[in-house]
Amino acid sequence: MSARILVVDDVPANVKLLEARLSAEYFDVMTASNGTEALALARRAECDIILLDVMMPDMDGFEVCRRLKTDPATHHIPVVMVTALDSPADRNRGLEAGADDFLTKPVSDVVLIARVRSLTRLKMMTDELRMRAITSLEIGMQAPERSAVADTGKGGRILLVDDRESSYERLATILAAEHTIDVEPNPTEALFHAAEGNYDLLIVSLDLNNFDGLRLCSQARSLERTRHVPILAIADPENSTRLLRGLEIGVNDYLLRPVDKIELLARARTQIRRRRYTDHLRDNVQNSIEMAITDALTGLHNRRYMESHLATLAEQASTRGKPLALMILDIDYFKSINDNYGHDAGDDVLREFAVRVRKSIRGIDLACRYGGEEFVIVMPETDLHVAGMVAERLRRSIAGEPFAIHKGAKRIEVTISIGLTTLEQKGEAVGDVLKRADTALYRAKHDGRNRVVSHAA
Ligand code: GH3
Ligand code: MG
Ligand code: MG
Repeated sequence: MSARILVVDDVPANVKLLEARLSAEYFDVMTASNGTEALALARRAECDIILLDVMMPDMDGFEVCRRLKTDPATHHIPVVMVTALDSPADRNRGLEAGADDFLTKPVSDVVLIARVRSLTRLKMMTDELRMRAITSLEIGMQAPERSAVADTGKGGRILLVDDRESSYERLATILAAEHTIDVEPNPTEALFHAAEGNYDLLIVSLDLNNFDGLRLCSQARSLERTRHVPILAIADPENSTRLLRGLEIGVNDYLLRPVDKIELLARARTQIRRRRYTDHLRDNVQNSIEMAITDALTGLHNRRYMESHLATLAEQASTRGKPLALMILDIDYFKSINDNYGHDAGDDVLREFAVRVRKSIRGIDLACRYGGEEFVIVMPETDLHVAGMVAERLRRSIAGEPFAIHKGAKRIEVTISIGLTTLEQKGEAVGDVLKRADTALYRAKHDGRNRVVSHAA
């Protein structure tokens, strides 16, 4: 897992030092000696992580960080501030500017590499999601970047796992100022609690009595329901080596005791913001997958999906020796509905038609819009006789109840014709099945419409 790290520092010796250490671990290193140069490189999306010096002439690191985090093009790049200062006030200024972490000069090799590795993993995951979500942008979904940049990170749901009363009471009081917080003092209940609670952040103490907090973190990472919930670990300074181990197993961030109030709030906000952003990306990916297989007007599956899925269903039916029925439905004289009442009325009819179809079929049946006013329904484990009854019920559900058009101002009679058949034998091409159903449909039209015609295989 190689990542490209941008090192920003106005002192060439500092740049050289970090560059050498990172290169030794096979990271790809780029450098910039001032803020303006860094912003330009980051905007061109040429780096995965930014190590940013605080004290620089012209634009200081806080300002560079603030600009990176408020620009939709760069807000997702993790920023680690590298500073000689280690006063809580400076750390907090950086965190307020949106920094993901802090390293204090002189930078310890182990901590540097552990942080960079864990941020790299996170960045790779976000990139993968961003790439897939690009497709959703192209089909007109809301860009998650805009809301991510505006997100304050407040109002999250947090689960705090800590068994020391004096500790969790203090932490919960601090966090309650900005979030909804639940405390779980019993670590053996924590995983279950986390999986049930739909949390935006888990805060886990690594100083639990007779319980390994890291085990809990690793279980949370492997459980489907909690896999994407960020984890912030808290530990006593003497437990700090375990924190590094934590970063390797997927802990997102950590704090040392005694916990600074402002730092706790800032780190919680950063994690929650990131969580919401990746959730948003994931939703977009999910939506674009659904849109790719769904007909926008009726919400039924589209033809492309049906054609690929029909092949799978036919194969399943053959290997299991089960029947498979298929019908093509076509609205009668649909053109004249458009001609007489307008195209919008035609659309209303198509939408209502889909609603009635959905009511008449089972969950395992596959309904799709095959063309303009032509639909296909595939019914697994259904023979010609049963399919004939379903088709007749469908026909009646359309002809028996007029369709509302013009926002309910008018109701019109609609009928359909249905051609029906079943899968013939092992290995029959699905195209042949469709053709047979189409022939049956043609007969239904020819014989006077508003009827079902079966074509036995
Ligand atoms: P038949 O009884 O023989 O099926 O006659 P028909 O008029 O239903 O068949 P034809 O294939 O001649 O006309 C279908 C019409 O459906 C033509 C087309 O403009 C219309 N159509 C196709 N897609 C849509 C759509 O999404 N919305 C609307 N309103 N009309 C559509
Ligand atoms: Mg028609
Ligand atoms: Mg037609």
